Amino acid sequence: MRHISQIPKNITKDLLVKLYLDEHKSCLTIGKEINKSIRQVSRYLQRFGIKARPFSTKGLQTRLGAILSDETKEKIRKKLLGKKLSPEHRLKVIKTLNSYSGNRNNNWKGGITPINKAKSNKLRDTKEMTWWRNAVLKRDKYTCVWCGAKENLHVDHIAPFALYPELRTSVDNGRTLCVECHRKTETYGNKKPKI
Ligand SMILES: [Zn+2]
Repeated sequence: MRHISQIPKNITKDLLVKLYLDEHKSCLTIGKEINKSIRQVSRYLQRFGIKARPFSTKGLQTRLGAILSDETKEKIRKKLLGKKLSPEHRLKVIKTLNSYSGNRNNNWKGGITPINKAKSNKLRDTKEMTWWRNAVLKRDKYTCVWCGAKENLHVDHIAPFALYPELRTSVDNGRTLCVECHRKTETYGNKKPKI
């Protein structure tokens, strides 16, 4: 059973059952907690014989968030919220969207145009957002929730700011991360989406 031995000792079946089945966390969230990629987490699940849940469109939206215009995202969001896609259909959507992204387009600015950025900065600079940031920092005791750092803290939106306007000032949708950990998030800055 050579492949089983490749799984780090601290990652046990019990742990994954607890996180994935009992706490209903996504592979992405679990990956962040145990410092592994989504792929690795789903591989571990497979090896431990834990049945994967159907694909969550939330992860897809997160990835789309970085590559599409607001208008397009809104359209896709509405569409995705309205129906469950079959795995085949989902793959098609991902492939199509993937072909829009990347360097093929000369105007590609890493997912965000200067106008969008200015607009987005303005939106982020409101009284409500200041209140939200402070509330999240206070709840997290001014500590990075991933590594425990107490300096260079950012407040991150878990469900992306651009895609979930209704969650922008929800404290539950905020988390305190240090700069280093914030950079590791899938939605940070101009990071190119991995699809
Ligand atoms: Zn950190």
